[in-house]
Amino acid sequence: MRHCFSVLDMISYTENNFKSFLHYDRMIEDMYFDTHAHYDDKAFDEDRDSLIAALPGEGISLVLNASSDLESSVQSVALAEKYPFIYAAVGIHPHEASTMNDEVLAEIRALAAKNKVVAIGEIGLDYYYDHSPREVQRETFRLQMALAQELSLPVIVHNRDAHEDSMEMVRAFPGIKGVFHCYSGSVEMARELIKLGWHLSFAGPVTFKNARKAPEVVASMPEDRLMIETDCPYLSPVPLRGRRNDSRNIKHIAARIAEIRGTTAEHIAEVTMQNGKRFFGID
Ligand SMILES: [Zn+2]
Ligand SMILES: [Zn+2]
Repeated sequence: MRHCFSVLDMISYTENNFKSFLHYDRMIEDMYFDTHAHYDDKAFDEDRDSLIAALPGEGISLVLNASSDLESSVQSVALAEKYPFIYAAVGIHPHEASTMNDEVLAEIRALAAKNKVVAIGEIGLDYYYDHSPREVQRETFRLQMALAQELSLPVIVHNRDAHEDSMEMVRAFPGIKGVFHCYSGSVEMARELIKLGWHLSFAGPVTFKNARKAPEVVASMPEDRLMIETDCPYLSPVPLRGRRNDSRNIKHIAARIAEIRGTTAEHIAEVTMQNGKRFFGID
């Protein structure tokens, strides 16, 4: 029987037109997931609410607010409760590792149970600044890896000039799902992390003219482990270096990554959105 023009055809015709309209809309504005920001930072005290409220209209549909100490963890949770598109990670940054004790760990555990807390972070090691003694940094890192394991939450790792010890910690917790944020290690280290099931996230430094290792890693890594972030208010990408950073600048990072991988910023936006949602368990 000859297939006649049916209601179903009409629906699919309308649907396709609607899809192309959506596509046109997206061409104007790709949607991004900034997987690492610090909107609790005092750098945003002047205009925090107006800036955050404007983000969805600027193509930022999801933000993960990472914490640095207990107070910042409380603020991250408050931001996540206030804005539907903000999620939180709670934890003690290596700079603040010396503030860790039993009570702080108990508070972090309680905060981690809150709605919209989707990770422990940022945690890790920073041997560049050494704001806390290295032994203390390692112990605070270890305690929070154990906490993440206990709570079945992913971790966000900060590693600066501490590649060896960071990898040792990763290997000690084989059950943990994690991301190295603002990845700064070698191609070999990236390979091992990927093999262990970890993700790598890239920030402003990948756009810097003198960046060498990061572009190499970006070029060779599998697409399904890639995430992007601003780490705002820090690390503004080219061409905004030296200025206060915010999530809107993630477009420059996506564009540079797209250039390195020979694809489009739209594709990077889509892929990193899917990866970020899957990693943090966001629907
Ligand atoms: Zn960091
Ligand atoms: Zn950070």
